[in-house]
Amino acid sequence: MTTAEIIAIGSELLTPFKTDTNSLWLTEKLNDIGIEVMLKTIVGDDGGRLEETVRDAFKRSDIVITTGGLGPTSDDITREFTAKAIGRALVYHDEIETLLRERFRGWGREMPEINKRQAYVIDGAEVLPNPHGSAVGMLFEDSGKMLVVLPGPPRENQPMFEHHVLPRLKATASEVYSARRVLKVSGMGESAVDEIAAPIYSRYSDIATSILFNKSEVEIHLAARSETAEAAAIRAAELADELAAALGKAVFSTDGESMEMVVGRLLTERGETVSTAESCTGGLVARRLTEVPGSSRYFVEGAVTYANEAKIRTLGVPAEVIGTHGAVSAECAEAMAAGMRERARTDHAVSITGVAGPDGGSEEKPVGTVFIGYSGPAGTRSIGLKLPGDRYLIRWRTSQAALDYLRRQMIK
Ligand code: ATP
Ligand code: MG
Repeated sequence: MTTAEIIAIGSELLTPFKTDTNSLWLTEKLNDIGIEVMLKTIVGDDGGRLEETVRDAFKRSDIVITTGGLGPTSDDITREFTAKAIGRALVYHDEIETLLRERFRGWGREMPEINKRQAYVIDGAEVLPNPHGSAVGMLFEDSGKMLVVLPGPPRENQPMFEHHVLPRLKATASEVYSARRVLKVSGMGESAVDEIAAPIYSRYSDIATSILFNKSEVEIHLAARSETAEAAAIRAAELADELAAALGKAVFSTDGESMEMVVGRLLTERGETVSTAESCTGGLVARRLTEVPGSSRYFVEGAVTYANEAKIRTLGVPAEVIGTHGAVSAECAEAMAAGMRERARTDHAVSITGVAGPDGGSEEKPVGTVFIGYSGPAGTRSIGLKLPGDRYLIRWRTSQAALDYLRRQMIK
């Protein structure tokens, strides 16, 4: 197995304000071709520490990739100290200087003299051109080890990596390909999912499976490895299918789609339309539905009816329903959905009424009490939920539950 390490360089990455995302992107690309990332390090603009880190990395890993610190200023230390770490000199490339001068002229400026620093390259390294910025990258190979030095900005290092590094790695990496699948499960907790899933995935020792909880859904991540990309995909699909069959309707996606995408796809397939009437979610369901490109084919109208008068005036909820059962009730949710469906003349309508908190709860209806209504060709119905979390999470989870309720009406 070929192994890699990633070193993100830049003091700003050690502050609370800037995250290293380069290594996430690189890890995905490496995993795709069967290269595992063993360790990631973040180093500030400190030459000594960078040199030490690169040296240590090569003791463990075949491939070391650095990003950042290739700018022209004196705090850009990557060229000098990666070279030191591998015991090579820096050599001046006139053609890089010429290119830089031309580029600056193209911008109507003269090249500042400090940019000459960017014409230095590790002796024996291949120069990786950078059409999107001034810092060239470097690739140095020696006795089965590879050092790749990339600029910091993602829009510069991503095309550079894809065009100049990835093809090289594919050629040298052991012939292992991986395929990933993400199953998403709604309406079940993490442990309930694992209870059903574990006996199944434990039979697939060649597939790495992890289960994680994400705000309002449980995700099952599968990573299969095989000698060909096709075999890995087939293997991952086998496990995905088996898990989906065991978990049933709770699985809303087997390829990482969001709930709103799944609902949109179902509506599109059926050629049907939807409208929404929301209280405590303030339009979140409508927003999520319309975030999906092409949603105008099925989304007709959404109303945010926060006040009782609005529910009465806009949706035709009878005042007695609110008077007798309260605005947060199954009866009100159903009246909202039926009223919205009639008003918008859609095939389906979903409604939401609940207590998102932190205030407004009572003993009978504590914070997190939510009713979701549905009205469709087969009639009008509702469910009541008690959701945990703060205001943000309750609103998000309510929107998810409403979309899931709508989904389940369509897959009956
Ligand atoms: P430049 O010539 O643009 O200065 P550089 O190679 O010196 O390139 P840095 O100065 O280290 O790169 O970073 C430039 C910008 O790239 C940063 O401000 C940041 O926006 C982005 N960047 C750098 N490192 C990372 C990282 N690890 N993850 C995400 N973004 C990064
Ligand atoms: Mg810089």
